[in-house]
Amino acid sequence: MEKVFKVLIFTDLDGSLLHRDTFKFDEIKDYLKLLISKGIFIIPCTSKTEREILEFNHELGLNLPFICENGAAISGLELLNIDLPKELILSREKDDLLNIFKNKVPINLQNKCKWVFEMDKKKQSLVFGLEDKKLKMALNRKYTIPFIFEGTKNDRNELSRIIKKDNLYLQEGGRVINLTDRVSKAKALRIFVRFFKKNNKNVKTIAVGDNYNDLDMLKTTDFPCLVFNDKFTLDEIPIDNLITTNKPSPEGWADVIKMALVKIDKN
Ligand SMILES: [Mg+2]
Repeated sequence: MEKVFKVLIFTDLDGSLLHRDTFKFDEIKDYLKLLISKGIFIIPCTSKTEREILEFNHELGLNLPFICENGAAISGLELLNIDLPKELILSREKDDLLNIFKNKVPINLQNKCKWVFEMDKKKQSLVFGLEDKKLKMALNRKYTIPFIFEGTKNDRNELSRIIKKDNLYLQEGGRVINLTDRVSKAKALRIFVRFFKKNNKNVKTIAVGDNYNDLDMLKTTDFPCLVFNDKFTLDEIPIDNLITTNKPSPEGWADVIKMALVKIDKN
């Protein structure tokens, strides 16, 4: 008997699906559309903001559901099923997080945190690798606060320890550290799947990432995929059944997805 199941692809964007420096994905645009036309769901799961992902959707020409700001919110579940909520917010707002941070963290440690929102435009542009409209969309954050840390590894651990008491966390991205609520890509992925399973019993999940902040997401999925990133090597944390490629994004994305789909068909 043929087993019918739905495939959900949760994917990081920068460095996984989008070129790490140019943020382009023209080479795989048709492949993305082909997957979607076959009934596969693609769900961006990224540190990017809602505005940035809506722009990505616009460039793709499709309306994809998504997880934004490192798992702080889920949008577009209603696109999968009309009965599901349009938006699920899993985080406190950024002003609340920043207030706690400013009240609890000793000033010597605070001084080592260079908030991106306090930098001048030129510096912001350098940090994010974005300009003008795209920079503005990246800065339009609701739940997470990016910064550059200018302390030692020990300082960082100390900072982490202090803010954890108030359920605040540091999440390493490709370019910045984000101060966040107790959210993660993995947690948002699990919640997303839980909602999706209300109407679909047989679900297989693929997750694609390229960096530290994707590892928890990769570990929580049926078919974890790692796109090549020369600034990141997976040494300390083994992931079972990891699918890898020696190509960077965007081509590497198509590579790992093709391998994952072959594996799914064999299962
Ligand atoms: Mg990435």
